[in-house]
Amino acid sequence: MPPPRILFLDQSGALGGGELYLLDVARAYANTSHVVLFEDGPFLDRLRAEGVSAEVMEVGESVHAVRKEAGPRALLSALPGLTQAVCRLAHRARDYDLIFANTQKTLFMGGLAGWWSARPVVWNLHDLLSPEHFTATTRRLAVWGANRLASHVIANSQATQRTFTDAGGRLPTSVVYNGIAPAPFRAVGPAEVAHQREQLGLGAAPVVGVFSRLAPWKGQHVLLDAVATLPNVHILLVGDALFEGDDAYAAALRRQAEEQGLSDRVHFLGFREDVPTLMRTCDVVAHTSVSPEPFGRVIVEGMLAERPVVATRAGGALEIIDHGATGWLVPPGEASALATTLRDLLAAPDRTRSVAAAGRRAAEARFSPTQMLLGIDRVFQKICPTSSPIPLPDSVCSSDHVCKQT
Ligand code: UDP
Repeated sequence: MPPPRILFLDQSGALGGGELYLLDVARAYANTSHVVLFEDGPFLDRLRAEGVSAEVMEVGESVHAVRKEAGPRALLSALPGLTQAVCRLAHRARDYDLIFANTQKTLFMGGLAGWWSARPVVWNLHDLLSPEHFTATTRRLAVWGANRLASHVIANSQATQRTFTDAGGRLPTSVVYNGIAPAPFRAVGPAEVAHQREQLGLGAAPVVGVFSRLAPWKGQHVLLDAVATLPNVHILLVGDALFEGDDAYAAALRRQAEEQGLSDRVHFLGFREDVPTLMRTCDVVAHTSVSPEPFGRVIVEGMLAERPVVATRAGGALEIIDHGATGWLVPPGEASALATTLRDLLAAPDRTRSVAAAGRRAAEARFSPTQMLLGIDRVFQKICPTSSPIPLPDSVCSSDHVCKQT
């Protein structure tokens, strides 16, 4: 019996958290599977560089124009493009056992293609279907579509699972946390950290890093407000404006840094591929989202880097951090509370060191790539019982201590 043949779908060509997750999953099924994106970009290059068969399917501007808050008019004008894309996807899907929709837009297109080609559809829910993130109409539409077009929902946290069922989701759901390989974090030694500090001109200054795309709900402005009250502390802002409308926020952050006299203490580093090294360069890793985070890969990564992590108390962060034991939680959007916690952490490195070590152990035990792949494969096995379980790749086993125990 071969492993299942999966047609993975994602609309984005950018490297957001959902795409980095899909990269790891698709790599594990690379021998039998294929990825279709609706947009060109660095995600396509990364997939191909890592040996995953992938293509961009042209869907036309009208389909791209259907966004979270788009109304019936946008949907109507996208109809011809959508129908064409669904036809092509259905044709492609005939060579696969199941369709894996990694985003909401692909749930609809993949769902219709699945119905047409008689292939089951798994929807990976990376979003909180809550009023902070989506209008009531979009939420109803997503759940209505999932109930009719998909067979199973994989939720990236209990928080996202709850919003699906609370909104009327009736499908079987499984929570599968993102798994992140600890090896790249372990590999960063003091020499690389010293080199990085020198390159960034940090001297001996305390450094707080935030590692998220620049978007208003990611709350980088709150960290600027907090650090404005902490003399000498430097900020690494790692990440870029990845999605439409976020450029204005990036510009506003630069203005804010200037107005608050922080320009020489705030380092805008853009999108970086060396997140493990940069995290190990920080004294504290901050997660500042002002709306609940669906999961929060960066929180787990900060723990794997064995750095004290401060995250906002909402959504998936509550499932990752045990406050005071493996990290710290602060109220979202409250710069003064964040400043107080940062001041305390920077002043007591001995106490924070033991919590950071406990955080690393917890992250390695609970968010391993092996557990993630086994969780996903369990869903695939239920849906395609004639396929064999996934052979865990050496690359996962070599970087993942849990593998050796399973
Ligand atoms: N990331 C990255 N380079 C950057 C900024 C972020 O590779 O410059 C990665 C980060 O390490 C994490 C992901 O982007 O793996 C963000 O995932 P998260 O779940 O935190 O947020 P999302 O983008 O899914 O909202």
